[in-house]
Amino acid sequence: MGSGGGGGGGGGGGSGGGIATKSSSTTSTSTSASNSTSNGACTNSSGSLNGLGVSIGIADTSTSTQNNSANTEPTWVHEIFQGTLTSETRCLNCETVSSKDEHFFDLQVDVDQNTSITHCLRCFSNTETLCSDNKFKCDNCCSYQEAQKRMRVKKLPMILALHLKRFKYMEQFNRHIKVSHRVVFPLELRLFNTSDDAVNPDRLYDLMAVVIHCGSGPNRGHYISIVKSHGLWLLFDDDMVDKIEASTIEDFYGLTSDIQKSSETGYILFYQSRDCNT
Ligand SMILES: [Zn+2]
Repeated sequence: MGSGGGGGGGGGGGSGGGIATKSSSTTSTSTSASNSTSNGACTNSSGSLNGLGVSIGIADTSTSTQNNSANTEPTWVHEIFQGTLTSETRCLNCETVSSKDEHFFDLQVDVDQNTSITHCLRCFSNTETLCSDNKFKCDNCCSYQEAQKRMRVKKLPMILALHLKRFKYMEQFNRHIKVSHRVVFPLELRLFNTSDDAVNPDRLYDLMAVVIHCGSGPNRGHYISIVKSHGLWLLFDDDMVDKIEASTIEDFYGLTSDIQKSSETGYILFYQSRDCNT
């Protein structure tokens, strides 16, 4: 992977990229999905895949899908990375439930200290209350109302890209910081936040690659990646490629304390569905 500055304007992708939006306000196809439930500051911490420059195809796609998502010919990017989220919104005034499907290419999850990626995904699908400035426009009430919203995965992608939101704007510091919290990501993963009508809810995923951010903050640092190839784990660091043991992967889970310290942390996880042969 490229060096630190390659992560877009935000270095670590913290403020760069930025195509991820709160999905409640758009009807167009989203390229990434971020469910900012717990922290208003999180809305600035996107940075999604194209912020890294690791997936030019996704970045290109994001612009074209704005206008003609229904007519766009699927590309290899869609075939490999695209999944579907369904968001259910219940108006708290009239109790009407409406649901809407959205495509995604990666899921952006908030990170908490000493958790797992499964916990992050569970939080992603927690019920969110839309209120004050973020009220829901209810077609039945013909007005903005408080509502409860929940997002779950309806179509599981062939390769699931999980973006850990490690670059957050913190009001108390008046800047973005890197959140080095320890988040365990297993070699095998099954999703539990699937919708009742999910196409393939039991899909089993294997970890196949991790983009790792090395450094103490969003504006400096370095990216490396680990990739599983022919049964071996390889670490790519600029022009150096080393074979590593699978047990080394846990070194990239994060830190149990001191979020300001320099760390090498898993930033984007790629899980490959076991039922595909790509
Ligand atoms: Zn209503």
